[in-house]
Amino acid sequence: LNKKRIEKMLPSEHKNKIFDIDYQKYFDLGYRTLFFDLDNTIADYDTHKPSYQTMTLFRKLKKQGFNIVILSNNKGKRVDKFSKALSVEAYSNLMKPLTFRLKRNIKMDQLDNSKIIWIGDQVVTDIKLASKLGIKSILVDPINMDSEKWYTTYFNRRFEKRRLNDMKKHCNTEYKALKLENR
Ligand SMILES: [Mg+2]
Repeated sequence: LNKKRIEKMLPSEHKNKIFDIDYQKYFDLGYRTLFFDLDNTIADYDTHKPSYQTMTLFRKLKKQGFNIVILSNNKGKRVDKFSKALSVEAYSNLMKPLTFRLKRNIKMDQLDNSKIIWIGDQVVTDIKLASKLGIKSILVDPINMDSEKWYTTYFNRRFEKRRLNDMKKHCNTEYKALKLENR
């Protein structure tokens, strides 16, 4: 891949956890919708309800004025549990890395892509998809990689390693500034 395409795949920030993000900063910049990936971003695959800390964060973010949507490739049941417990909307069964379902949801909800922040743990699905749709993204570290399905480990994480290496090679300044070597 050439430098331009790699640059497009860079997240705007890289944080360890969703709790480390300065959400107020983004609100002040005009962002109004937060897309949260579910698996390994909000909770690992073995956890079936949000933690107390997550409940508190989401309550605070809604109070701040954010509209929140949970995104997942998982089917309804798991995602519904989280969206109910956190009282936020969810887009499930998204078929990432395809974009048509997500695009349809965005259109139905009349969201403005330039006012969305997408928070996720995967470079090759979350960050890449966000960039494809012109959505700003923040990369977080996966909560527990051991809980992942074998195909995530095998395909996505392997591609991710390659992309991270490309970033290191072609966009070294950004790579260092984003502390991507810590991943
Ligand atoms: Mg994930």
